[in-house]
Amino acid sequence: MKKVAIIGAGFTGLTAGYELAKKGVDVTIFEKSSDIGGLAGGFTLEGASLEKAYHHLFRTDTAILSLLDELGLSKELGWYESKVGMIVKSIKYKDLKHKEDTEHNLFEVLPFIGVKDLLMYKPLPVLDRVRAGAVVFFLQKYNGWKTLIDKPAFAWMQKWSGKKVMDTIWGPLLQGKFSSYASKVSMAWLWARIHIRANSRKSIFEKELLAYPRRGFLSIAETLATKISANQNKTAADAIQTNTAIEQITYSNNKATIFYNNKHKVFDAVLSTIPEKAFLSLVKNNPSTPTNAKQPINYLSAIVLAFSSPQSLSKFYWHNIIDKESPFIVFLQHTNLVPKKWYNDQNVYYIGVYVPNDYKYFTDQKYQEDGIKQEWFAYLKQLFPAFDEAQVANSTLFKFPYAQHVVDTKYPEKIPAYKTNFPNTYLANFSQIFPEDRGTNYAVLEGQKIAALISSDLLQ
Ligand SMILES: Cc1cc2nc3c(=O)[nH]c(=O)nc-3n(C[C@H](O)[C@H](O)[C@H](O)COP(=O)(O)OP(=O)(O)OC[C@H]3O[C@@H](n4cnc5c(N)ncnc54)[C@H](O)[C@@H]3O)c2cc1C
Repeated sequence: MKKVAIIGAGFTGLTAGYELAKKGVDVTIFEKSSDIGGLAGGFTLEGASLEKAYHHLFRTDTAILSLLDELGLSKELGWYESKVGMIVKSIKYKDLKHKEDTEHNLFEVLPFIGVKDLLMYKPLPVLDRVRAGAVVFFLQKYNGWKTLIDKPAFAWMQKWSGKKVMDTIWGPLLQGKFSSYASKVSMAWLWARIHIRANSRKSIFEKELLAYPRRGFLSIAETLATKISANQNKTAADAIQTNTAIEQITYSNNKATIFYNNKHKVFDAVLSTIPEKAFLSLVKNNPSTPTNAKQPINYLSAIVLAFSSPQSLSKFYWHNIIDKESPFIVFLQHTNLVPKKWYNDQNVYYIGVYVPNDYKYFTDQKYQEDGIKQEWFAYLKQLFPAFDEAQVANSTLFKFPYAQHVVDTKYPEKIPAYKTNFPNTYLANFSQIFPEDRGTNYAVLEGQKIAALISSDLLQ
């Protein structure tokens, strides 16, 4: 029986492991964290399993939807109306109806789900709304995304939509997602966000529905893990070894030796699902390690605060924040998507931001969990003056390095190949997804693709 080592028990590693185990391959998955699921992993809040970072699925996420069917989990998936809003500074806009409110409410939430909302978007003069709508409509219909790869999204959008649209919509969104790299991001990436999202609805008048599994995304990871060990008659702890960071890989006679926790083991093949740079650091002393590696892919980290409170702050699920002073980019009231009765009748919230690894939240001692929370809650009170920190029941902060790859205008040249320079060693991670954004759906697709490649190479 051929033995394959998989590095990482995120959705890519688990899907690949599941597919390989089905084909009779002996699979061992090594995971450095104490739990599985990677970026889509979970924890317990208010007695329920919840993602450490906010997650949902779109109708276009067909690979993971089919996998859920196969795993018997489709019945646990609910479809809920997505309610997206933009939080904007209201004080600036003269058409504000209740001027007296502005003393207390500096911000307001405007619906932002489809072209219809764009046409009603108060921060923009009417002509700019029409212009912004026309550009979005064009991108929704346009299929020639390859011509957009070498065009920076910032400059392209500014040229066609105008500066006001950039300042009040696309600029803050790009800045929030890509931080200091925002001006370098490829228009093909933004095209995919707009194009795919639009095509997840049959018409612009149809409501957008998002899917969420009743027991959270961790239940999907756990079901995959159970099937991986059952398909091989192994114990779960043997099939998926948590708290096990791979430290080094060496090669001899086309076999790989994996080093971890003062142990080592020999495998016929290795699949790495971690970023290429991290993989190369494991093999650095091998003769096949490339010395003239391609330009490295830049990554941003994500920092996410999840908390519960009896207070309801908004009627929207997802809020983009359009304010340069904001210390975070997104605010979610998760219980405006799914029922709060799942969480002891508390409302569940997320606050999130993407930052470079050398940002103050990593380097400055002041910004341990409490420092970040303090800064974010103070700003949240500006957004929602009714917010009362004293009512926050539970809160946990998560930091994810390597959370988002920077998809710049040279990106296709940087994408690593599935087969590495090393014998029977493969790489599958979300940096290979382009122009779509990363997501559990694409992790499933990559996992399936790489498992097919490994099994055809190994079992021929
Ligand atoms: C803030 C945020 C929000 C998101 N929202 C959504 C959403 O709404 N919907 C959606 O579908 N997707 C969403 N995603 C994306 C989704 O979570 C990822 O695309 C997907 O989980 C990636 O899976 P992966 O297995 O490729 O990578 P990862 O999840 O990163 O898995 C890699 C694993 O390798 C492990 N590892 C690293 N180094 C080693 C080592 N040396 N030895 C052993 N193990 C190691 C890591 O601990 C990790 O578990 C979101 C991501 C973030 C950060």
